[in-house]
Amino acid sequence: MYRIAWIKGDGIGTEISEASLEVIHAIENTYGVSFDIRFYDAGDECLKRRGEALPRETIEGVKTADASIKGPVGDTAMDVIVRLRQMFDLYANIRPVKSYKGVPSVKPVDLVIVRENTEDLYKGYEFEVGDAVVALRIISEKASRRIARVAGEIASRRRGIVTIVHKANVLRKSCGLFLRIAREELSKYNVTVRDILVDAASMALIRNPESFDVILTTNMFGDILSDEAAQVAGSIGLAPSGNIGDEIGLFEPVHGAAPDIAGKGIANPYAMILSISMMLEWLGAKKNDKRLLSASKSIERAVEEAIARGCKTPDIGGSMKTHDVGGCVARIIREGV
Ligand code: ATP
Repeated sequence: MYRIAWIKGDGIGTEISEASLEVIHAIENTYGVSFDIRFYDAGDECLKRRGEALPRETIEGVKTADASIKGPVGDTAMDVIVRLRQMFDLYANIRPVKSYKGVPSVKPVDLVIVRENTEDLYKGYEFEVGDAVVALRIISEKASRRIARVAGEIASRRRGIVTIVHKANVLRKSCGLFLRIAREELSKYNVTVRDILVDAASMALIRNPESFDVILTTNMFGDILSDEAAQVAGSIGLAPSGNIGDEIGLFEPVHGAAPDIAGKGIANPYAMILSISMMLEWLGAKKNDKRLLSASKSIERAVEEAIARGCKTPDIGGSMKTHDVGGCVARIIREGV
């Protein structure tokens, strides 16, 4: 029995959580594993109701769970996810981006963005100085080194190419340090290392996304490029992510709370379903539990199959409801894909 802390979040968070729970139940039935799922509050609605966006019991829940899954939160993101990342030192933000047969994409994409997750402008050190504001960009050797290692390991299991994305021609010291340390660390892996300026990278992601395998970058560049890459692949509704530290893993869709479509039952749940797949892979490796690894793979295959069968929400060219997409994936898992 694995304990999972589950934060539904704001906006479309409840709908995509309910669809994803169908998938979790199918996994339990099919793979003989059971999950003790505990729901916790966080986000804008939680702030309104309880006066705080990240209650103590939610923090405790994430801390003591075997793994956590989180829906999007709205304006309180800085107080919820950015805080959790820093509090638990979840230094690696892993964002796989992939195009699927049956989803229109700008070009075929299959890459992973490895985003440093604890520093950069996201430290939130902003100060008013007279009529101006100063924001501090923190880039440390320690954080750059450990995220480079994560990129090296992931690339070693893939096509073996790491592209470091930076802006060292302007941000000479901060990006300069990141680039130097990343190169140094990656030289220890059997991978090809390239680097590219962030502006050129954003162009290359549209022109030839297939040239990327693993993108290694700093916090803010990673945030921006992952939305772009997800859209090139088809939809942000398909992009999962993991926030991973040495002990704790928290998985979530890349997208936000999407208030424009909340409550309509048309949100795409695949990003959250694929985040569950990432969670099971991480937990399976951590606990050395092959059932979880098989379950993770079966979710990936079931998502591919479900999309191919036309189980699609409007953002990816279908007309299915959020909940029915969850049911579709669950059925395919039970069929033994
Ligand atoms: P954040 O800053 O937290 O990323 P945001 O409002 O800038 O939030 P998102 O909420 O990620 O950005 O979404 C941008 C748009 O993409 C939404 O308005 C919505 O129309 C669409 N979108 C996001 N997620 C989904 C989803 N799961 N399914 C369908 N459409 C989505």
